[in-house]
Amino acid sequence: MATETGSVKIFFFPFVGGGHQIPMIDTARVFASHGATSTIIATPSNALNFQKLVTRDQNSGIPITIHSLPAEIPDITYVTAGPNIDTTVLLQTLRAFLLSHPPDCIVIDMFHPWASDLVDELQIPRIVFTGSGCFPRCVYGNIRKYIDIESMSSDYEPFIVPKLPHKVKLTKSQLSIFERNPSKFPDRMKDVEDKSFGTIINSFYELEPEYADYTRKEIWKKVWIVGPVSLCNQSVEDKTQRGKLSTIDQQGCLKWLNSKEPLSVIYVSFGSSVRLPPKQLMEIAYGLEASGKSFVWVVGEILKSEKNKEEDDEERWLPEGFEERMKESNRGMIVGGWAPQLLILEHGAIGGFLTHCGWNSTLEGVCAGVPMVTWPLTAEQFSNEKLVTDVLRIGVQVGSREWLGFGEEWKEVVGREKVEIAVKKLMEETEEAAEMRVRVKKIAESGRRAVEQGGTSYQDVDALVRELKERKVNGHVETF
Ligand code: UDP
Repeated sequence: MATETGSVKIFFFPFVGGGHQIPMIDTARVFASHGATSTIIATPSNALNFQKLVTRDQNSGIPITIHSLPAEIPDITYVTAGPNIDTTVLLQTLRAFLLSHPPDCIVIDMFHPWASDLVDELQIPRIVFTGSGCFPRCVYGNIRKYIDIESMSSDYEPFIVPKLPHKVKLTKSQLSIFERNPSKFPDRMKDVEDKSFGTIINSFYELEPEYADYTRKEIWKKVWIVGPVSLCNQSVEDKTQRGKLSTIDQQGCLKWLNSKEPLSVIYVSFGSSVRLPPKQLMEIAYGLEASGKSFVWVVGEILKSEKNKEEDDEERWLPEGFEERMKESNRGMIVGGWAPQLLILEHGAIGGFLTHCGWNSTLEGVCAGVPMVTWPLTAEQFSNEKLVTDVLRIGVQVGSREWLGFGEEWKEVVGREKVEIAVKKLMEETEEAAEMRVRVKKIAESGRRAVEQGGTSYQDVDALVRELKERKVNGHVETF
């Protein structure tokens, strides 16, 4: 392994696939660009997906490599097993690698608790990567701490999350099964975090200052806020070769966007692994058509309903003649697989982002200076929605009410009227929309400054590298 003498060796062990892997790869690249020797540990197929990115960095002299484990597991999707997928087959291969190449520290995704045990046993300083911002940790932390959620009778009666700097309203139906049943599911993250060297957050201080302070003071002992890490992707190649290969011709997509008026197109995407059922896609199509706005809509894979699971017939998911009408009017582009999201969001024709509020998409929307229609579905997305709409005031809620568990049947179809109303509210030239646009542009600017030399995130990355270096020089040995 090409380790510079004296350089700090950091390993990054991301979760397989999905929205946890992409930001951790970027984080590894950020640390490497600050002089740490970064090694990404990945399964063979995932290693292949990121090889080009990493090779380009290496060619620019950045000390980064990928170590491919000789074991494969399927990528997570929301309908297979989600984060419950068994990743323990990687345990022995990881152990062998760590024993032969002990790093100065390892960054582990929070969905790999078994890897945490292994790393603790080997007495390697361990840093947790949560994949989300500070805000949700404060929201869910305070709900657990101050509300007896299990005795709350109504699923749909809004309550205010206690002791937060902003008025944040949620309903029980928008909480995960874990938050709804804290006596059955104690805060499993707490133990993982408590024994760690600290936590890396992909966010930036200026986005959520009160929550960053609160997190540092009340929740985690050591926090490095190092994002938005997606901003390390500067070239067109970096922006398109992130995660998976784009299934559309990126030039064709950009050409189509070039033909559009500035801020006239809404980008619609539900992230890396959510699959929507045909009946929900149908409502989105009707809503988008009725809004009269142009769109790029990433449909991804379609979720078959229980009754259609055994049948080969494709269930209808677009209204009669929809594609022809959109083609004739040149109003819409449907992407059937993976889109170059960063590139699309940055295009001047994009005026809005209908998002499931995955943390990466939320940050990427913010960094592109694009206001959002929020449509949370699962994980901590309902809390991200509140950050966007109630705290930052840069988005409009579509009106989604039901938290969806991994592998669960689709609970709630959001109707076409709600889609139409929210899209119009965001995309029409109203004072409210203009104000949101001004606010999000300002935040985008502060995000850019945060990762520049001297910026808050830049300093946090440097601080961690420095701390690890000092530990190394002093021969520090300690268990966490
Ligand atoms: N993404 C992409 N193209 C797609 C779908 C997703 O580039 O067609 C990327 C997106 O830019 C983001 C990540 O995949 O970086 C999705 O992460 P997020 O946290 O938003 O959602 P998740 O996939 O975890 O639900």
